[in-house]
Amino acid sequence: MNEIKSIIKHDSNKPKFLQLIFVDINGVPKGMEVPIGRYEEAVTDGISFDGSSIPGFQGIEDSDLLFKADPTTYVEVPWEGIAKVFGYIYKDGKPYHADPRRILNSVVEELKKMGITAYIGPEPEFYLFEKNGSWELKLPDGGGYFDLVNLDKAREMKRVIAHYMPAFKLIPEVLHHEVGPGQHEIDFRFADALTTADNIVRFKYLVKAVAESYGLYATFMPKPLFGKPGNGMHLHISLWKEGENIFRGEKGLSDDALYFIGGVLKHAKALTAVTNPTVNSYKRLVPGYEAPVYISWGYKNRSALIRVPAYVGNGARIEYRCPDPSANPYLAFAVILMAGIDGIKHKIEPFAYVEENVYEMGEKERWSLGIDVLPTTLEEALGELKRDKVIRDVLGKAYHNFMEYKTKEWEAYQRYLEKNGINRRTIKVTEWELERYFYV
Ligand code: GLN
Ligand code: MG
Ligand code: MG
Ligand code: MG
Repeated sequence: MNEIKSIIKHDSNKPKFLQLIFVDINGVPKGMEVPIGRYEEAVTDGISFDGSSIPGFQGIEDSDLLFKADPTTYVEVPWEGIAKVFGYIYKDGKPYHADPRRILNSVVEELKKMGITAYIGPEPEFYLFEKNGSWELKLPDGGGYFDLVNLDKAREMKRVIAHYMPAFKLIPEVLHHEVGPGQHEIDFRFADALTTADNIVRFKYLVKAVAESYGLYATFMPKPLFGKPGNGMHLHISLWKEGENIFRGEKGLSDDALYFIGGVLKHAKALTAVTNPTVNSYKRLVPGYEAPVYISWGYKNRSALIRVPAYVGNGARIEYRCPDPSANPYLAFAVILMAGIDGIKHKIEPFAYVEENVYEMGEKERWSLGIDVLPTTLEEALGELKRDKVIRDVLGKAYHNFMEYKTKEWEAYQRYLEKNGINRRTIKVTEWELERYFYV
């Protein structure tokens, strides 16, 4: 057995198998492995599969789908003896409506028609845990924000991750300990929206794989521990036209950037359903942990939903602080970009500018500044999505797949609470959430 293993891995540096990757409605990678000899076929004719049990795809009555590889995403992973490639899904010869990568690509194409390329740089956060059979999670370190030594037991692990990242075409930029004990962040170089979405899928896989080799579990769930900071995935966004950053203004941001902010603020409630799509996401969006709660924007303010970092010139960008790493990055990018574009098209002026800490403001003061609140549960967020035609239309027919899937998720959680006599409005993290989200 071990002999076979080493033949596959070390026989030569050439991969023997090809992993064909797409994501389900949750952004979880799915796929199949085929002998590497089928690569050409995967690119040209495609490889058919049964999509009946993929979360958010269609039902059993009608499930024949086809995967076509996108050769621009091909990478070889020598230490696993495989190659990996992302692709698009087809059904009856036509693009499949619920394929998240296709949905983002349609948005990218729409922007292209306007001469625009969107660049996105993510800041994914994750926790490391020691875990045995139960959900009594043990933190491997007691470090805090930017700790370098002693308490940051994962520093070597982060370097190992960074070392492997280039094989996945990811360029590591910053590795650091986050605020929570056992919580970390690794940022990688920004890229066009589609590439960054692929990169997030690869990154989460790599972090989990390396953690496993250290006997640890990495989790990207938004709030694994009650009373400790949650995992966010802030997104740095800029739009470019003919090699120029159109968010760049004379003294900071351009008008287009401000309108983009206006559009995102206007649609913020509905966006939340997609950028924070789990029951657990809303346990992160509470005051006191640098996660947004109110719909506001500012320059220095880390309690704001949108922060404008102090970069000027071609570095001009906005930071959207709501998304968490449980979001499907393809769907999240698609809706955020179209919300911003709606702002640019209709010249929506951004309201609710603040520099004070919004958490500390009284309700009256917030009202007078026009600062509204983000949805506080998945159910509320889904209701907002239902009411927002602009955002719903970005998802197209997949809106129905999304709604159906997420409504069931919310109902399953309600049944669990009821069965266990837990208060409906609990802000504690339940075992149901750990079971459902810990590994995603
Ligand atoms: N963990 C915080 C969040 O949930 C962010 C903290 C930080 O990056 N300084 O968004
Ligand atoms: Mg950061
Ligand atoms: Mg951070
Ligand atoms: Mg940030």
